[in-house]
Amino acid sequence: TYVVTENCIKCKFQDCVEVCPVDCFYEGENFLVINPDECIDCGVCEPECPAEAIFPDSDDRATGWLEINRDFSEQWPNITRKGDPLADAD
Ligand code: SF4
Repeated sequence: TYVVTENCIKCKFQDCVEVCPVDCFYEGENFLVINPDECIDCGVCEPECPAEAIFPDSDDRATGWLEINRDFSEQWPNITRKGDPLADAD
């Protein structure tokens, strides 16, 4: 799974949300998290993140963030794409 880490705090660009094919981002007041049980490990969100906050959970930079993503994704509301990512691709 992929996880959202520290650089996301107060970012709010949400470019990641627009490309996630399974809408598995959840939104808190200051940052987003990925539900690790819903993430299909496609990796498309990682390069889209302007804050470089998204990593595979196996990455050293993601240490400790998997549980945070899991815990908050159970408490926060789901957020979904506004557009169709396939229509936006060129
Ligand atoms: Fe969504 Fe894919 Fe990123 Fe997982 S890796 S959060 S499925 S875009």
